[in-house]
Amino acid sequence: VADVSLDRLVDWLTRFRALVTENQGYLTELDSAIGDADHGSNMARGMNAVIDKLGEPQTVDALFKTVGMTLVSSVGGASGPLYGTFFLRIGTTAGAVDSLDGATLSAGLRAGFEGVISRGKAEPGDKTMVDAMGPALDALDASLGSGSDPAAAAAAAFEAAQRGRDATEPLVARKGRASYLGERSAGHLDPGATSTAFLFQALAEALA
Ligand code: ADP
Ligand code: MG
Ligand code: MG
Repeated sequence: VADVSLDRLVDWLTRFRALVTENQGYLTELDSAIGDADHGSNMARGMNAVIDKLGEPQTVDALFKTVGMTLVSSVGGASGPLYGTFFLRIGTTAGAVDSLDGATLSAGLRAGFEGVISRGKAEPGDKTMVDAMGPALDALDASLGSGSDPAAAAAAAFEAAQRGRDATEPLVARKGRASYLGERSAGHLDPGATSTAFLFQALAEALA
């Protein structure tokens, strides 16, 4: 597909909800090793609230404003404001349009990622969702830059997000609750990087 319609963006969110609810136990198990065992329930509660609230938005900014505000208000943990900011920034960057092309999709996701960084202050290698998101967006841009359509670019982003997720395993956490464990945080996947890989899996499936 050349153009990503509002329906496909809603499909992205619906698939993300399905992935985090199906994998709620797994995400919580990861968070029980290096956090407070609530990442699965946080993400499931947040995305269920999002899908309940969606309604029939007419523009990309209206859609993602609802998504972002719902996540911020329904998820108590660190991940709610971070994912909330991510989606809010996609909306404000896209504006009152009813579809995205490769360039505007990339610009929106990139602005969302920058929102996560400015809110959470994590750097690459700190063992957070940033370690899946950054490589995913770099791969998306590289794919679009070589002439691929958004579907192929999203597939490349998903591949890179999985590699970024896997690369968090040996890292020592420097942000979030896992950082309280110091060296003992090494040897476990980061829960937020794992949910971010699901975010890009959902995008790849929605655009395929
Ligand atoms: P909490 O840690 O408040 O219980 P969650 O368990 O829902 O929240 O989310 C934890 C995830 O949030 C971590 O695995 C990490 O990926 C992400 N995270 C935590 N702090 C930051 C931060 N400052 N910047 C980016 N991501 C972060
Ligand atoms: Mg937690
Ligand atoms: Mg918590």
